[in-house]
Amino acid sequence: MLDADFFRRWMTATAASVDREAQRLTDLDSPIGDADHGSNLQRGFVAVVATLEKEAPDTPGGVLTLAGRTLISTVGGASGPLYGTLLRRTGKALGDTGEVSEEQLADALRAGVDAVMALGGAAPGDKTMIDALVPAVDALSESFVAAKAAAEEGAAATTPLQARKGRASYLGERSIGHQDPGATSASLLIGALVEAAGE
Ligand code: ADP
Ligand code: MG
Repeated sequence: MLDADFFRRWMTATAASVDREAQRLTDLDSPIGDADHGSNLQRGFVAVVATLEKEAPDTPGGVLTLAGRTLISTVGGASGPLYGTLLRRTGKALGDTGEVSEEQLADALRAGVDAVMALGGAAPGDKTMIDALVPAVDALSESFVAAKAAAEEGAAATTPLQARKGRASYLGERSIGHQDPGATSASLLIGALVEAAGE
């Protein structure tokens, strides 16, 4: 079973991973965006870790809804409201129990990803974070390690796609040949589950 501490570790590991990879995320956002994805998420997850320490929510749902709210209020770019919605909706789906199963997390994360698609209007293949998140959620019933691999594959598979949502879509065919920054950061978020589980 996964308790509030697991979800706190998930957010802390994501923050560390975003911090390590911030330059790469910003570099990916430079040919097909405005070169701020790394700094956007860095700012957001620094705030998430600080707020979680201060308010110390004691349920899995509480940790994720607070993290989501914090991202929405601290990240200006498109990715803030989108990741914020992902975590907030996932947290809401987990309810207010003290422990959840991996299966409950998989179901809740699916609800979170659906909410991101509803908010941003992106479908799989549009070259966004959805291209990493959907395969990750599909693989989550197998294991965290499988979900991480699926997210990384999904992110790599955005390279030959033409962007149909977000800033990169303004480039039309010129968006082809670059890996999507948001799909890349989504693979960091999912990869951090493995770290949180100590696998
Ligand atoms: P901005 O585009 O406002 O500068 P960021 O650079 O932080 O914001 O985030 C860009 C990423 O957000 C993209 O790489 C893409 O994965 C994701 N994104 C943008 N628009 C959408 C959308 N409508 N649905 C899902 N993801 C999106
Ligand atoms: Mg950007």
